[in-house]
Amino acid sequence: MQESAIQPVHRSGLEVLKCRICAAVTEAGPYHVCEECFGPLEVEYELESLRGVLTREKIERRPSDVWRYRELLPTAGEPTRGIGVGWTPLLPAPRLGRALGIDDLWIKVDSSNHPTQSFKDRVVAVALQRAGEFGIDVVGCASTGNLANSVAAQAATAGLSAWIFIPEDLEPEKIVATGVHGVRLVRIRGVYDDVNRLCAEVADRFSWGIVNVNLRAYYSEGSKTMGFEIAEQLGWSLPANVIAPMAGGSLITKLRKSFAELVTVGLVPAAAEPRCFGAQAAGCDPIVAAVLDGAARITPLRSPRTIARSLAIGNPADGIFALATMRETGGWGASASDGEIVEGIRLLATLEGVFTETAGGVTVAAAAKLAAEGRLARSGPTVICVTGNGLKTAEAARSTFELGEPVEPRLAEVERLAGSV
Ligand SMILES: *Cc1c(COP(=O)(O)O)cnc(C)c1O
Ligand SMILES: [Zn+2]
Repeated sequence: MQESAIQPVHRSGLEVLKCRICAAVTEAGPYHVCEECFGPLEVEYELESLRGVLTREKIERRPSDVWRYRELLPTAGEPTRGIGVGWTPLLPAPRLGRALGIDDLWIKVDSSNHPTQSFKDRVVAVALQRAGEFGIDVVGCASTGNLANSVAAQAATAGLSAWIFIPEDLEPEKIVATGVHGVRLVRIRGVYDDVNRLCAEVADRFSWGIVNVNLRAYYSEGSKTMGFEIAEQLGWSLPANVIAPMAGGSLITKLRKSFAELVTVGLVPAAAEPRCFGAQAAGCDPIVAAVLDGAARITPLRSPRTIARSLAIGNPADGIFALATMRETGGWGASASDGEIVEGIRLLATLEGVFTETAGGVTVAAAAKLAAEGRLARSGPTVICVTGNGLKTAEAARSTFELGEPVEPRLAEVERLAGSV
């Protein structure tokens, strides 16, 4: 039994926590590291018992949010938090596909997620639901921005106190979109990894639920809903390729897990495992560098330098698992310079009408490189995960167009602009 001030609850026995390093199993309590080896814990379900019980029809009858997949998420009962989160559009992207040379291209548009326009709404929904089941009433996070927004908003919905820790240099939009919810916002002099280290100490000192620290095993399960939705929206089938941005490296590993679970439960036919591709900014690409170098481990980066601040994690918690995910699925990685990120934002906005934050620019730029290198499986759908909204990093897109001088409200001015005089 691990010691914790927070009381565990038991559910139907469907889930346990399993160490990702030594495979030791423990009950699904508020723990995040293995007692045997200090490795990270991951939720495991008794999936076989869901075969033929959790059916497509049952899921399709449920409301359109993350909880339509509740049996595949760590929750004990009727979810009361994270209502309306998820179920974002999966759009065909033929114009971008032609530009990048990718047939059957799709975009998963998490830039429209409720309530804070990023994929982090998914992980927070699950973490806060679980926090409630553990009787935790103060939550928090270490954030590069989007997580701060989502914990703040969803803590407000749930009536929880929240302590949000961020690096001092975050984009102003992300600071405002956090503070507006009436939380304790603490700016730290340092980079994200300093914030994260502090939060590990905070989680130990107080009985708070820091969603990406001591609730991380549950938080990260929320990412699977993106993969579940992609498969359901493709008519209950798996894509051939999926391209995801990597910060801590969790999302990409959970996309793989989501596809594998759907096959095990029998919701999609067994097929070739989707190739998982990871995208990072060139100014902070420790996971991509390891893939390209054939390295066995991740070399942490001390001072990230990129406009993609939401991905600027120099010491990624799930780096080695992301690396294994890319390698074992036949995927690969690619990184994007600041200029390429802005061009990715511009391409997506001008060809598909989707305005993404810098992280999406990273993913589009990486997709272009991976396609040019011939890394993508040729037949079957390719899905690009657009994980954040352009209005949160508006300044980055400012150089994509020219803003002319204001003109007088006269037809002659428009005729002059249109070149028709
Ligand atoms: C957090 C985040 C990611 C990736 O998160 P992981 O830590 O790799 O799971 C991707 N895109 C955006 C916009 C994010 O905020
Ligand atoms: Zn272990």
